[in-house]
Amino acid sequence: MPGMIEGLSSLRHARALSRRYFHDTSLLTKWLYIRRQLRKLVRRGGPIQLWLGMTYRCQCRCVHCCQGPYLGSDVSELSEEQLRELIDISRRLGALEVVLFGGEPLLRHDTIPLIAYAHRRGMLSHLFTNGILLDEERTHALKEAGLFRVNISIDAADAEEHDKRRRLPGCYEKAIAGIERLVALNIRCIIWTYASKRDVAQKNMSDLRGVIALGKELGVNGVYVCFPVATGNWACGQHEMLTLEERNRVRVFQSDPFVELEFPEETSPCRGGIRMLYVSPDGRLSPCPCIPYIYGDVREEPLDAIAKRMWNEMLHYQRQAGGQCIMQYPAYRRLVYGDDAPAITPLPCMQEPESTATTEQSE
Ligand code: SF4
Ligand code: SF4
Repeated sequence: MPGMIEGLSSLRHARALSRRYFHDTSLLTKWLYIRRQLRKLVRRGGPIQLWLGMTYRCQCRCVHCCQGPYLGSDVSELSEEQLRELIDISRRLGALEVVLFGGEPLLRHDTIPLIAYAHRRGMLSHLFTNGILLDEERTHALKEAGLFRVNISIDAADAEEHDKRRRLPGCYEKAIAGIERLVALNIRCIIWTYASKRDVAQKNMSDLRGVIALGKELGVNGVYVCFPVATGNWACGQHEMLTLEERNRVRVFQSDPFVELEFPEETSPCRGGIRMLYVSPDGRLSPCPCIPYIYGDVREEPLDAIAKRMWNEMLHYQRQAGGQCIMQYPAYRRLVYGDDAPAITPLPCMQEPESTATTEQSE
């Protein structure tokens, strides 16, 4: 049975990829994809996605936020012009998609113009949002701008539980209203959620089941499920990390084509630094928003030079980490946090016998 589920999941992935760039996309998008495939015949593909941290401002203060330690910090945000330049450089490197991340990206007035810019350049754009600002005017503007997809966070189908985890009363209601507007305008919309330790411990996993049922009821395009990551507010969150057994429990949902998991198998590759690059609101480059380790500053050094350095290092660490989330891998945690790295139990697929022993003893 697990073999069959794995086979189904990679088939689904391959089909989704070819549809993504060829179904209902511009000629320019199709050409960028073909150009990337041709280039891959002679050199490595490079990152597919450029993630832009638009701001550290946000209305919520979610318990699980990977940007938690930075939220509200007073940084000098990259300008719209600088962000456009990054989009152009990543496109030259072969990237096909731009992902606008936060904080809450819609708190910036130039987020929608940037989506329109990426669209004109033939790149697919994704917006991560808590949904609070998705009113009539903005959803229409997003449609006009040619947005490819919205990823909207819903932590639980129960309004009180969602608002509690987001520490903002009333945000569930606004997010649901936003989803309804997106669906009415036929904008691709994915509910982004995570499998919480508390929920997975329950026989029914009612939060997760509830979110999936809610997504179907609202008519979104699917539900994406992440596992908790040992970073941000949960940098010391060993008690929130799932064990292998708990992760496998969540994997039963894969038999539903409506559900996608970040890690369909234990050794599914982490995309950080290899298939995606992340630039923080103030221009620091790292492999993904969950990795607080800076490889360079795009205001001081060209993006491609930093990306190359990062690629080589990430390839090395990810091989050792068995493909899994590198924020749970002891050697990488030491690189990020130094010798006092908060201890997190490595996953069984991670090969580091000596460090594993040290970490386990220290807990
Ligand atoms: S909405 Fe997103 S950025 Fe804002 S606190 Fe929650 S997880 Fe963090
Ligand atoms: S390090 Fe990899 S697996 Fe972990 S959050 Fe980032 S992209 Fe995902």
